[in-house]
Amino acid sequence: MGVRTWIQDWPVYRQLTGTDPLGRGAAASSAATRELRPRTATADRVVKSVCPYCAVGCAQNVYVKDDRVVQIEGDPDSPVSRGRLCPKGSATLQLTTGESRRHRVLYRRPHGTDWEPLDLDTALDMVTERVIRTRRETWQWEQDGIRVNRTLGLASLGGATLDNEENYLIKKLFTALGVVQVENQARVCHSSTVAGLGTSSAAAAPPPFSRTSRTPTASSSRAPTSPRRTPSASSG
Ligand code: SF4
Repeated sequence: MGVRTWIQDWPVYRQLTGTDPLGRGAAASSAATRELRPRTATADRVVKSVCPYCAVGCAQNVYVKDDRVVQIEGDPDSPVSRGRLCPKGSATLQLTTGESRRHRVLYRRPHGTDWEPLDLDTALDMVTERVIRTRRETWQWEQDGIRVNRTLGLASLGGATLDNEENYLIKKLFTALGVVQVENQARVCHSSTVAGLGTSSAAAAPPPFSRTSRTPTASSSRAPTSPRRTPSASSG
């Protein structure tokens, strides 16, 4: 390489003498960078999706190559977000493909110090047994002479990654079980960001699902096996 070629390849020289005085385009490029292509350009297909993090519901384009997610970006077609994602939504690729993502149920038994993997069927059986038992043991037909038909022994704290459909099903399930303490962590996590979200996206965190009830003082009776059973029926 001659001295003239070396100088002409110097980015500062190209910036001063070429058509890119700010050095943000051709002047700053090299043979290597000219070969670079974004992951979105080589994807096999693009799948429309919605950001899983909060109820603002920004739309996303999920880029797939060889049946693997390679990039997730904001969807410009969305009337909600018009291609924008907040920093949290911009990191959705990590949620999908990150090494720390868990693919198995982990269980830490009472007084245990380590997590142990469980198969899904066993975990679901354990959850089911505990829900039924707790509901039965903490069921209240009445409090202060008022029919309540509820249990305060169970509660649900949902996460901001739950979507509308999941929240709907969770609320429906727990209401059918007589659970009144149904909350969403987004109310805490997004309490400081609602103003910003409202300004940028004209929306905010998910609405609260129900108020947390006061601590019970009345005695409770055993739970029914069905929410429709009458107080006089045996509880099983
Ligand atoms: S505001 Fe952020 S976290 Fe919420 S849906 Fe949009 S990108 Fe996702």
